[in-house]
Amino acid sequence: MTILDSFAARSLSIFPAGSNGEFNLPKDLVRIIVSGSGCILRDAEGRDLLDFSMGWGSVLPGHAHPAIVEAVSNRVMLGTNFAYPNIESLQLAEELSRLSPCCQRVRFCASGTEATMYCLRLARAYTQRDTILKFEGAYHGSNDEGITSLFPSGQTSFPGAEPSSAGIGRGRVIVAPYNDADTASRLIGMHSHELAAVILEPLQRCLQPLPGFLESIRNACTTHRIPLIFDEVVTGFRIAYGGAQEFYGVIPDLVAYGKAMGGGLPIGAFGGRAEIMDLVREDRAAESQYVWTASTLGGNPVSCAAANAALALFREPDTYHKLRQLGQRFRDGLRRSLHDTGHAGQVLGDGPLGQIAFSPTPVTDYRSGLLADRAKSRAMMLGLFARDVFLNPMGTKLYLSLAHDDAACDEFLNRLTAVLREL
Ligand code: PLP
Repeated sequence: MTILDSFAARSLSIFPAGSNGEFNLPKDLVRIIVSGSGCILRDAEGRDLLDFSMGWGSVLPGHAHPAIVEAVSNRVMLGTNFAYPNIESLQLAEELSRLSPCCQRVRFCASGTEATMYCLRLARAYTQRDTILKFEGAYHGSNDEGITSLFPSGQTSFPGAEPSSAGIGRGRVIVAPYNDADTASRLIGMHSHELAAVILEPLQRCLQPLPGFLESIRNACTTHRIPLIFDEVVTGFRIAYGGAQEFYGVIPDLVAYGKAMGGGLPIGAFGGRAEIMDLVREDRAAESQYVWTASTLGGNPVSCAAANAALALFREPDTYHKLRQLGQRFRDGLRRSLHDTGHAGQVLGDGPLGQIAFSPTPVTDYRSGLLADRAKSRAMMLGLFARDVFLNPMGTKLYLSLAHDDAACDEFLNRLTAVLREL
């Protein structure tokens, strides 16, 4: 029995399906990760893996970036959690409100799931209405709304919703097609009397918004006085320092952050217009619209120190130019690999994000994505995994980071081309 076998066996006996829920792998591909540096992971067998998952996009600076290590090391000695404002959380909140136009007030939590959950609760309390409109195929974390119609059959008529998990509450959610401004605006108008919020991923998974789509949704929400929530857990600090608000020039009423903001440490934040956010003030607890929020580890100084160090890196002059150029070059390479190996496919993504969908026709929303060959996608991802590329084999996003360069991307593309030749 090798070290890996013993770890794999232990993993399989303690974690359901052998994983902590990130993704499942055939037993021979189970890897136990020991360390990470830049865009390379080392597993328990001493194998180096080229990382295109980057902690599901949370480690945008690269693994063990010296600036993050230093910030965390310096802070950790001074105490790790007081569950109360500290210099680091204050500095981070002020920076968030500078870079995020809608963020007049900010609160911290420990994950993106909590951040979107609080945005939805706030919107419901503010409007005193219950129904949430989300877009088909969008993910907003593991809260009930976040996993409604995440991977539905595609047969339900809009605005019908499908639960994508058992055990979730029957909170009222209606669903619209992403990138279909007319249908979505019509649904917003028809349901305005019951809608508490419209929530969206501005860049949904790896699907870019068509020109005018986000503006149309913003206008419909403004017309019908419905709070618009941007889930910037992925786009925040990634497609621009000011996230989707800066990149697309559309400003929501509430916003949720997580992932890249923490430089690889656990973090979440939500913010927005003061009149909505102030419903969380504990001195308003007697009011009917008072909103409960609490997070034991939210705003802890270690995560906030890491976040402040990450944001300082992101503010360096060339950061987003570099990430965009790298992402563009990478996506061009994905197209070339598909072409050279004779596979029909679409390359999705923007900024430092990429994804292949094996579909002969353009993919602009969830239903056009259903036409893609997902079995082939999984086979490609597992093939890459077997060639020591670490990624999410569910066929989702490929995350680049500040630690990736042309050489790392070219190495990925070589391995991809070899895998595609075998498919
Ligand atoms: N929102 C989006 C768009 C996400 O992609 C994710 C996670 O992948 C979340 C929310 C949930 O964030 P977390 O996993 O930190 O709870």
